[in-house]
Amino acid sequence: QMIPPSSSAAPLIPTTVDVNLGDRSYPVYIGTGLLDHPHLLQRHIKGKGVLVVTNTKVAPLYLDKVIHALIVGNPNVSVESIILPDGEQYKNMDTLMKVYDKAIESHLDRHCTFVALGGGVMGDICGYAAASFPHGVNFIQIPTTVMAQADSSVGGKTGVNHRLGKNLIGTIYQPQSVLIDTDTLNTLPEREFASGFAEIIKCGLVADAEFFAWQERNMDALMARYPDALAYAIKRSCEIKAEIVCQDEMESGLRAILNLGHTFGHAIETSCGYGEWLHGEAVAVGTLIAVDMSYRLGWIDNSVVERANKIIKQAKLPTRPPANMTAEMFKSAMAVRMKLKIEMHGCIKGDYDRKALDETLHAFCKSLNQVFSFVL
Ligand code: NAD
Ligand code: MG
Repeated sequence: QMIPPSSSAAPLIPTTVDVNLGDRSYPVYIGTGLLDHPHLLQRHIKGKGVLVVTNTKVAPLYLDKVIHALIVGNPNVSVESIILPDGEQYKNMDTLMKVYDKAIESHLDRHCTFVALGGGVMGDICGYAAASFPHGVNFIQIPTTVMAQADSSVGGKTGVNHRLGKNLIGTIYQPQSVLIDTDTLNTLPEREFASGFAEIIKCGLVADAEFFAWQERNMDALMARYPDALAYAIKRSCEIKAEIVCQDEMESGLRAILNLGHTFGHAIETSCGYGEWLHGEAVAVGTLIAVDMSYRLGWIDNSVVERANKIIKQAKLPTRPPANMTAEMFKSAMAVRMKLKIEMHGCIKGDYDRKALDETLHAFCKSLNQVFSFVL
């Protein structure tokens, strides 16, 4: 196998979105073929130990390529990898423990770098491991799904699911860099590909009417995976997310607008069992429920309802919740989540059920007001 001499070619300068968080700022590189440019990875490695965290689906596709990019012309670095089982149902403490096991067995210390290679599940698990082993190590994201490239790899949310709810264990921990090679999307199955667009559509709805209109014009090109259209949609989504995260990293307010569709979406995901509905599919339906609710509350006019329905259909995403899901199921799933969240923050004792629901509704109304301010 021929190895291209990485030093002879002029280093590529890719499209970069900067996440500006003071001394924790980092670049998000976006473009086609970026995995063929080792310097984009190597410049962010600290120490000599590297642990690549990936899964059984992604490893056969991209692990060799990533290891090559990490070691070529870089004899000092030693790369280990761990291949985890694939799927949302494995985003839990047991799987997290396997990452720690591997890191400890490989004698990695606090001067190593963890690299997440895969979709949002890999990013969330690896990020949490990086935040906590032993007290935080260098972390690089190589997202390979639309969901991860357009959303989850930016902003620093990491963590795992608990039996009683999704993403209940976690922390905010920013990476050193994010490398988005849009070519990796070519191997993504249709359903997974479409799923990520729920978040891209959400970005348009909550933050940028112009971008939303661009998506309406270009959704067919996006579904046909035209590289330029894809790169633009991902870049704009990263920019929007970065902008919001930089204003409110800890989600004390503004960042919550990125939760559009997620309150109802989470309820669908938990009620159906992880893995039945993809995150983006649930968010798509959740967004339409939120839009419908806003319409019924008189906050938006019917044209937004129609546009949202139309674009979600164009993106080959579902528009209706699972047939067996009732309003009661929605309510109880939403309440459990809020109840736990409140309990874990230790701020409310006693009659939290009612209060939790009030709070949900309040947060919800607040974000929706901002969401649709552009059409009002
Ligand atoms: P995922 O990580 O499960 O990936 C989807 C599927 O595609 C998996 O089977 C995966 O192995 C496979 N895959 C990944 N890349 C591939 C490729 N290039 N070619 C072929 N197959 C590939 O799911 P996802 O949709 O990427 O992410 C969803 C997860 O991300 C959820 O757990 C969600 O909670 C989390 N998330 C986190 C944030 C955040 O801010 N941290 C934001 C959004 C979502
Ligand atoms: Mg999401």
